[in-house]
Amino acid sequence: MFHSSRGMDLVPGSVAILNGLAPDGGLYVMDNLPHVDYKTHLEDDYKMLASFIICKYFDEFSFIEVKKLVDEAYDTFDTKEVIELKECDNAYFLELFHGPTLAFKDLALSIMPKLMKLSKEKNKLNNKTTIITATSGDTGSAALNGFKDIEGIDIFVLYPNGGVSDNQEKIMLNYQAKNAHVIAVNGNFDDCQSFLKKFMNEHKDLNLSTANSINIARLIPQIVYYYYSYIKLVNDKKIKLDEEISFVVPSGNFGDILAGFLAKNMGLPIKNLVCATNQNSVLFDYFNTNIYDKNREFYKTNSPSMDILTSSNFERLVYYMLNDTSKVKALMDTFNKCGKYELKNPFKYFYSYKSSDSEVIDYIREVYDKYNYLVDPHTACGYGAYTKYDGKEKCVIISTASIFKFPSTVMSAFGKNGGIEEMEEEFKLERPKSLYFKDNEKIVVELNDLEDYILNMIKSGD
Ligand SMILES: *Cc1c(COP(=O)(O)O)cnc(C)c1O
Repeated sequence: MFHSSRGMDLVPGSVAILNGLAPDGGLYVMDNLPHVDYKTHLEDDYKMLASFIICKYFDEFSFIEVKKLVDEAYDTFDTKEVIELKECDNAYFLELFHGPTLAFKDLALSIMPKLMKLSKEKNKLNNKTTIITATSGDTGSAALNGFKDIEGIDIFVLYPNGGVSDNQEKIMLNYQAKNAHVIAVNGNFDDCQSFLKKFMNEHKDLNLSTANSINIARLIPQIVYYYYSYIKLVNDKKIKLDEEISFVVPSGNFGDILAGFLAKNMGLPIKNLVCATNQNSVLFDYFNTNIYDKNREFYKTNSPSMDILTSSNFERLVYYMLNDTSKVKALMDTFNKCGKYELKNPFKYFYSYKSSDSEVIDYIREVYDKYNYLVDPHTACGYGAYTKYDGKEKCVIISTASIFKFPSTVMSAFGKNGGIEEMEEEFKLERPKSLYFKDNEKIVVELNDLEDYILNMIKSGD
């Protein structure tokens, strides 16, 4: 059972998934985390392990039901093992970008829509659900891919016109379909997000939900790759049984690293969790000063998927720090008023480091020179944090996106201009097949017309 980070009413997992956000505005959390002993899963493949861990959290679903949807989701990945590990001295890059839209969000968003459908069945709901999501980057395409074949669920993705990278836009447009609406909004990302909140509030009768990373069904599938990479290192004799390792995680909304926190507290031998940020360094500042403060300038960096000042999932960590929902509520009320709070961090195993845009460029170059390996700008932030952290134990650096999503930044690290073609040529690479683009028309809607546009589309789809 789950409850809000701001209140103690218990709900079953299926309801938490369907609600997304708790009615009091908090995020769903669970007490008494299940203990999972990795030693009893040394022979599991990724899908077995994923099904086991998901079932530990959602006991309404049978193992067979979950295994079926996990198999379907991960069969679309371009590696049999779902993830890959690349060894570089004392560190390993954990590649999480082998899914259909080339970023780690596929690991959860290929599963979450199927869990949502199963949750509707468990609760005997057969009305149509409409998902609305605002995106500044990778969530849109991963959500579109995940929801595209789900019966009874339509999706709208809103993105700022001119505010996402060329390749991010083209990947999203590839998914344009009868039940999948991709809309360029003449406004910025905040306009899209505030529209979304307002629209959801004013149309409660429409059975709306959202796909962003506050949903518990996005968090739990992410625990799996912490366990799986540990098990793989044991099986490959790179580490001894029970040897403690650390994970370095490029962070924005704090969802990825929070799954690592859960894995550690479920019994995985993790020593430290290293939170890597870019110049939008709210998290870095928090871990080094105990003050979370979003009142600051917002930078557009070369690792755009980490350009965030309000890390939504951080509220879950705050809950585990305080262990008291009324204290969390009070703190979040303060945050909503002042954009700032002070809170002593009791978990000494968090470390944090930040990287500037020019450091990111240098790190891409350094990793290539040392290991003949190309990383994307987000992973480069992770590598930067790893070099600054300087622990003696083995480290896993989470690689959150494919270089093919950010070719011009990668090329610039070598003093070159160009996009995908030029990068393929320069490094003798071939792009993944999702990067062959269809000629879908871009739909641009003015902010003022957005409400009518979406209402019309919902009605005409009935
Ligand atoms: C979303 C994203 C991140 C940040 O992950 P959070 O869970 O939001 O902390 C980092 N890198 C890439 C490429 C992403 O798409």
